[in-house]
Amino acid sequence: MKNLEERVKSVIRDVQDFPKPGILFKDITPILLYPDLLQDMITEMANQFEGIQIDAVAGIESRGYLFGVLLAQKLQVPFIMIRKEGKLPAKTIKESYDLEYGSATIEVHEDAIKTGSNVLIHDDLLATGGTAIAAANLIKQKANVAGFSFVIDLTFLEGSKKLKEIKPIVKSLIT
Ligand code: AMP
Repeated sequence: MKNLEERVKSVIRDVQDFPKPGILFKDITPILLYPDLLQDMITEMANQFEGIQIDAVAGIESRGYLFGVLLAQKLQVPFIMIRKEGKLPAKTIKESYDLEYGSATIEVHEDAIKTGSNVLIHDDLLATGGTAIAAANLIKQKANVAGFSFVIDLTFLEGSKKLKEIKPIVKSLIT
C-alpha cells in the first residue's frame, strides 16, 4: 500500500515548457479523476492544521479553489475567493504585486472577510511565494493570516522561507 505522498506524486503530471519555455509545469488536474485520493488529501490537509485557530480558508484563483473549498468544508469554515482584478461583482479590497514583467492585482469581496478573523491561505502550488505573499497582504488589510496551505511546494525556490516571515505555519502535502 502506497502512502499518501506517493499516491499524489504518482498522478501529478509534469509538462515541460508550459506555459513558456524553461518551465516544468506541475499539472494537478489528474488528481480530480480520483475521488478517493482527493478525499484522503483533504483529510490530511485538514489534519495538518489541527489545533490552529482557522476561521476561514481563502483560495487563490483558480486552482486554489479546487482543494480550498473542500478544505474549508472539511474544517467547517467559510471559503473566500481571491480573484484576479475585475471579476468580482460587489465591493472589493485589492492588493497589487510585482511580477517578473509588470504587475498584477488580486482582490476579494470586502464582506467575505470578517474583521480580525484568522484566515488560512490556500493555493495548489508554492513556487517563489510572490502570489501567496500578495494574498497574505490582501487578507491582512482586514484580518490575520492563520497559515499557508499548498498541495505542492517547489522547495528549491525557497518560497516557504519568505512566507514563514509572515506566519511560520506553512504546510504542503508534497515537496
Ligand atoms: P509563485 O507566486 O511564484 O509562488 O507562483 C505560484 C503560482 O503560480 C500558483 O498559483 C501556481 O499555480 C502557479 N505556478 C507557478 N509555478 C508553477 C509550476 N511549475 N507548475 C504549476 N503551477 C505553477
